[in-house]
Amino acid sequence: MKQEQDKLVICKCCDSNACYESEFTTQEGLIYTWLCMTCGFTSNSTMTKDSESLKQTLELTADLIKDLRQDHDDLAWFPTAITMPNKGMIFPEPIKNTDDWGWTVVKAIPIPEEEQEKYPDPTNPGTFYKNKMDMKNLKRFDKLCFMDAAEGLGMFAKPVTNED
Ligand SMILES: [Zn+2]
Repeated sequence: MKQEQDKLVICKCCDSNACYESEFTTQEGLIYTWLCMTCGFTSNSTMTKDSESLKQTLELTADLIKDLRQDHDDLAWFPTAITMPNKGMIFPEPIKNTDDWGWTVVKAIPIPEEEQEKYPDPTNPGTFYKNKMDMKNLKRFDKLCFMDAAEGLGMFAKPVTNED
């Protein structure tokens, strides 16, 4: 799979101009992926109605994310959920006592060496996690502040945008 240059396009979900479009050359041809830095919604050009990739996504996705689905130009869009074992997680979560939702950021913190044996890594038998999610220190962000949430996690630096 070869990745071409990313560019920013207008988001189909929130109309901001901060939607990252990436282009991949695969055996099946060109695939486009999108991730909006404003609303955090993501899709790709294989997510058409009745497609295998949409079916798989629906099987693996939490109910809240499925409930927030939007359809644009015959493609399904969902809020993203990101887990990076060494950095942390970002996921959408309902806001208490409202019917709204927002982004929750959980940072990974180091596990003291003497406690690591309590955290076996199921994907690599015999090895142990060195970081855990600090569930006591959640940070919440507005649903249109995905970029701030991602930055809170140190996921990437803010891309340079044209201010005018
Ligand atoms: Zn958006």
